[in-house]
Amino acid sequence: MRTPIVIAGAGPAGALLATYLGRAGHEVTVYESRADLRSTTVATGRSINLALATRGIVPLIDIGVIDRVDDITIPMRGRMVHAPNDPAPALQPYGSQPHEVIHSVARTDLNAILLDAAEATGNVTFMFNHPIDHIDLHNSTITFTDGTNAPFGVIFGTDGAGSPVRHALNAIGACTSHTDWLDHDYKELTLPPAADGSHRIDPNALHIWPRGEFMLIALANPTGDFTMTLFAPKVTFTELTDAASISRFFDMHFGDVAALTPNLVEQYLANPTGSLGTLRATGWSYEDRAIILGDAAHAIVPFHGQGMNAAMESVRALDRHLRATPGDIGAAFARFEHERRPNTDAIADMALDNYIEMRSGVVDPDYLAKRSLALELEQRHPEHISPRYNMVMFSTMPYAEAQQRARAQADVIAESIADPNVDVDSLVTALPKLPNLDPLARPDALSVR
Ligand SMILES: Cc1cc2nc3c(=O)[nH]c(=O)nc-3n(C[C@H](O)[C@H](O)[C@H](O)COP(=O)(O)OP(=O)(O)OC[C@H]3O[C@@H](n4cnc5c(N)ncnc54)[C@H](O)[C@@H]3O)c2cc1C
Repeated sequence: MRTPIVIAGAGPAGALLATYLGRAGHEVTVYESRADLRSTTVATGRSINLALATRGIVPLIDIGVIDRVDDITIPMRGRMVHAPNDPAPALQPYGSQPHEVIHSVARTDLNAILLDAAEATGNVTFMFNHPIDHIDLHNSTITFTDGTNAPFGVIFGTDGAGSPVRHALNAIGACTSHTDWLDHDYKELTLPPAADGSHRIDPNALHIWPRGEFMLIALANPTGDFTMTLFAPKVTFTELTDAASISRFFDMHFGDVAALTPNLVEQYLANPTGSLGTLRATGWSYEDRAIILGDAAHAIVPFHGQGMNAAMESVRALDRHLRATPGDIGAAFARFEHERRPNTDAIADMALDNYIEMRSGVVDPDYLAKRSLALELEQRHPEHISPRYNMVMFSTMPYAEAQQRARAQADVIAESIADPNVDVDSLVTALPKLPNLDPLARPDALSVR
């Protein structure tokens, strides 16, 4: 590999990649625009969490940090649906197998473990407070916002959706990219703990308040609070500008949450509104000199809880390709994109589909009838049928394969619902058999070394 080896960005993808490269004996320098999150409190004081699933867990096992991560996660065994006008929330379990749970984890805590793991290899140097302004791929030079420069032999762009490395690939025509912005935005809020520090609602579920065009979700933190996220059309956010309209909105649509969150209006006014988009890029690398991965190459909307999981799975796939052809890094980069892009395109589509399912499907009688038939068929034919959600969240089956299988299963279920006389069991057993979906039960799927 050309030296110096540089990684741009020390988020989950960058810190994980630094660990894989460092433990393979490569000396790596990581430039990160922010301060070291292990020694700085997050400016907003809010605890932002995300859902960690199998594709993210497998690399954590690989690099030997799963026990540390286990200590900071909260398992969520299903969706707790808070239907409108229904005082009793209903749990829709994700599955019946022990591994079919997702895990709520604070973004910064997980990132800190990955930074520690990279440093522990003895080969990784983090340069925090080093925002990259631009990169010259022909002259192999990074320019920081303060005007200073650094050379690189190869640069790995794990620098997020606004990636300067991707911009450099765009500039020389190696990469074309496009972001489809959603006409919905999001805002994060905190549901505080009870007076005794305990969680006010069940911490072991992902809470959803589906309201048709918009929704609220909540994931528990170990500190007794929940991070809630409101997803809604842009127009909703532009209409909610003052305390009266915000209070009215929450009282009308999320009365239970409003009652439990005394400073909801203050939080709403103080916290930023974020936008959401799907980035599709073609041409992720340039010779053996530069490559993008994670959100820099395939940022997606968050409705499947897979952006970070996909980023970590990409890192692991790149490590496999680099080890397969250590003498030809350019070929490893090309093979990596060839393998990954159809899969990251598939999860991008499935993440968009999942927004509709979460904000309205989970209380739609047609959806519920299909779901109940799918669960019944899964019980009868577990070797042929598995819900799409489970193939995405609880397996390492390539995303494109999960998408294809889910479409075939959906056709069978729609046909059986449309025609009660159809022989549904024959249709299901005609579907291709599933592999063992629990990657932890398949040692060949792990590269624990
Ligand atoms: C509301 C929301 C909820 C989400 N929920 C989930 C979830 O539940 N599960 C899940 O798997 N994913 C979720 N995601 C997606 C997840 O956050 C991202 O996919 C993940 O963070 C991508 O990791 P990354 O390392 O590729 O990029 P990032 O996390 O964006 O990290 C990029 C790093 O590069 C640094 N950087 C950026 N620009 C520069 C520069 N110019 N110079 C130097 N450094 C730079 C940044 O500071 C950052 O540290 C969610 C996203 C959103 C918006």
